[in-house]
Amino acid sequence: MAHQWRGVIREYADRLPVTEATKVITLGEGGTPLVHAQKLSELTGSEVYLKVEGMNPTGSFKDRGMTMAMTAAVEAGAKAVVCASTGNTSASAAAYATAAGLKCAVLVPEGKISMGKLSQAIAHGATLLQVDGNFDNCLDIARKLGEAYPVFLVNSVNPARIQGQKTGAFEVVDSLGDAPDIHVLPVGNAGNISAYWKGYKEYSAPFETANGTLPAVSTKTPIMWGFQAAGAAPFVAGHPITEPDTIATAIRIGNPASWDTAVAARDESGGLIEAVTDDEILAAHRWLSAKEGVFVEPGSAAGVAGLIKKHAAGEVPAGKTIVITVTGHGLKDPQWALRTEDGSDVQPVKVPNDVVTVAAELGLEEN
Ligand SMILES: *Cc1c(COP(=O)(O)O)cnc(C)c1O
Repeated sequence: MAHQWRGVIREYADRLPVTEATKVITLGEGGTPLVHAQKLSELTGSEVYLKVEGMNPTGSFKDRGMTMAMTAAVEAGAKAVVCASTGNTSASAAAYATAAGLKCAVLVPEGKISMGKLSQAIAHGATLLQVDGNFDNCLDIARKLGEAYPVFLVNSVNPARIQGQKTGAFEVVDSLGDAPDIHVLPVGNAGNISAYWKGYKEYSAPFETANGTLPAVSTKTPIMWGFQAAGAAPFVAGHPITEPDTIATAIRIGNPASWDTAVAARDESGGLIEAVTDDEILAAHRWLSAKEGVFVEPGSAAGVAGLIKKHAAGEVPAGKTIVITVTGHGLKDPQWALRTEDGSDVQPVKVPNDVVTVAAELGLEEN
């Protein structure tokens, strides 16, 4: 009989800081598809897979961390949670707070937030405040609220979030039978690259639990390749960026909270964190939808943009296994698909209610 996926906490309980007494808050997150990317594999001569995180309950990988954070909030007796968000964290926090029966406040930056994400936070009944500032300013306020007021912070500075997000690496290894050679992903606040690296390391060595030691699952760890948007690339600059700017709103972050752990992931794995331009991101976004059949939001395409760029520079080895996390669903931010390469909007062709005209318009001849 088919197995119903039980959410990341129940699936990986022995590797997460929970006990049998823990009341698990879940919407069935995780268990997302690892899709073989036909055209990227042909391009690079490596086997390229996409970890399609848009298939999570609220449409992004944030749900993996949010199930842990909300479970911890309930365990701590919290009545309300708060987060700063470029959009997906608020959508996820609002949904999981609803499942937990908690109030949720979200702080989003002025101007740049997609309709899809905004509508999720509202639909789930969060109190949404748009702060006159950028994401980094929002996170600053959220942290201070968490410290000095009776609200529980569910941003990825909360270690429970990273614990939940590391399960993405577990799933990749469980699907492939071993770790890939290279793992590629977008980098914004840098929680996810830190979480994947933690997950890969834990799976490659014996792991101590309350009930004994689990054996290593993988024989190796991958090289981590992170990609930032060129206008919001503090790791490339080597210092925070005060005015981050990119169309990829999910990674429009100038002062990443998980700085040290991201640098450790890069350096310990022998990897890199580089930048891709907005044009390269949009080209990768089109590649994914038009060539692979996978629809993502622009920020999610930064990893693919990075792989294509490295390939063009002759820096992608052939014959390897490469996994790219595509972080969020295309329906979050659909207007980018409706824009032609010259920047105008796609218009549907209008036809009369008549089969002969429709057939002619489609270039079909009667058989
Ligand atoms: C949050 C997010 C990112 C960035 O992840 P970090 O952990 O902040 O580096 C990338 N893409 C999407 C769709 C996101 O929601």
